[in-house]
Amino acid sequence: MNRFLKIAIVLSCLSFVINSAKAQAISNTRYIKAGKLFDSEKGQLLSNYIIKIEGSTITEVGNDIEIPTNAEIIDLSEYTVMPGLIDAHTHLMTLDNLTDDTPMASKLLFEGDALRVLRGSKRAKSWLVNGFTTVKDLGDSGDFLDVALKTAINEGTVDGPRMFVSGPIIISEGGQVPGIVRKHRTFIDDEYTIIRNVDDAINAVRIHVNNGADLIKICSNNTPNNTSLTIEEMKAIVKMAHRYNKKVTAHATSDLAIWEAVTAGVDGIEHGYQVSDTTLTLMAQKGVVLVPTDISEPLFDKYFDIIDFNLRREASKKSAKNRYKDRLQRAIKAGVTIVTGSDNYINFEMPQGEAAKHILIAYQEEGMEPLDILRSSTYLSAKFMGKENSLGVIKKGAFADIIAVKGDVENNFSTTMFNLSFVMKGGKIYIDSKSLSE
Ligand SMILES: [Zn+2]
Repeated sequence: MNRFLKIAIVLSCLSFVINSAKAQAISNTRYIKAGKLFDSEKGQLLSNYIIKIEGSTITEVGNDIEIPTNAEIIDLSEYTVMPGLIDAHTHLMTLDNLTDDTPMASKLLFEGDALRVLRGSKRAKSWLVNGFTTVKDLGDSGDFLDVALKTAINEGTVDGPRMFVSGPIIISEGGQVPGIVRKHRTFIDDEYTIIRNVDDAINAVRIHVNNGADLIKICSNNTPNNTSLTIEEMKAIVKMAHRYNKKVTAHATSDLAIWEAVTAGVDGIEHGYQVSDTTLTLMAQKGVVLVPTDISEPLFDKYFDIIDFNLRREASKKSAKNRYKDRLQRAIKAGVTIVTGSDNYINFEMPQGEAAKHILIAYQEEGMEPLDILRSSTYLSAKFMGKENSLGVIKKGAFADIIAVKGDVENNFSTTMFNLSFVMKGGKIYIDSKSLSE
């Protein structure tokens, strides 16, 4: 027999086995009884709803669904059920140990890709078991190591959230690593995609798309380094990314960097610490979202404890929080869409996914209402990715990415959000501690 024919027959038999397995999984029907259900599109809580799940997908949601006798029921009638959370700004492949004096660059040189991905995969699981069923991973991930981790998660090799990844950050000279001498600048080329002109910008997007990036992350300004992309370079990136139906989000901290990125046509702004009202108005007009990567008060305290900072710590915390709050409130007032992103790459000596969840607390401290925060952490984040029919929502046709918390979300938000009792991703249950908390 022709060798290729033989391979074709084997492959077709294999695909029959795989398809049969899939069919078996899809016939796995379950019903979730939700005491309270968060409607993430409308930002409201509904009472006594039922979610029908077939395999990995939600097939029905309503308050009048009849559950057949002998059906498999997941009883969450004492809980608040919501779509799995989305962290729109992670760096799973990077961790900064505050007590370690080694510069970031040296750490990368010593760590190597293999160890880096293994550590990243543990962090990925930490996000999942803390209720984040999706993350947007925005660089600091070596040479497309984020694509590798995403693939491993998608094929079930390791447990983790769904990943939308940017690959290396597209950036100007020097990247975000300070102090590298010119002779060793190739090191920066391994960690970032450095561009030096418009042609580089166009080609960088092609390279990223070809290597499996789901979106493009750029640095409008390079804090802590003092270089930046030009509007022309960013325009070229946006044009090329949109041609491939990829969103572009920009690290931008100064008002000028934000204004230039928005003028160039980016879809999202990360951080936006020093944004002016004029720029916020432009963002609202152009539908550009803001991802405020703020720090909660408990995490500030933890940070100061770890670095042993005692002088003026209360004043420092208050001044940072006031700046965050002022920026967030002005953005909301200007009508800018807020999308939740933790940017947690610091070792706060707690599980990384738990530290990431403090972003929800930070927004509440800065005056956002609990249900608005949840909407920013689910539906609005999925909408940015054009995935609002499959992620960040509990509705027919969406992935069964569902979590449940115990407590009063509206009146006791922070405690309740950490009182996580149930995590399901794609129909698979990862956390089910209902019996423990009852
Ligand atoms: Zn970041």
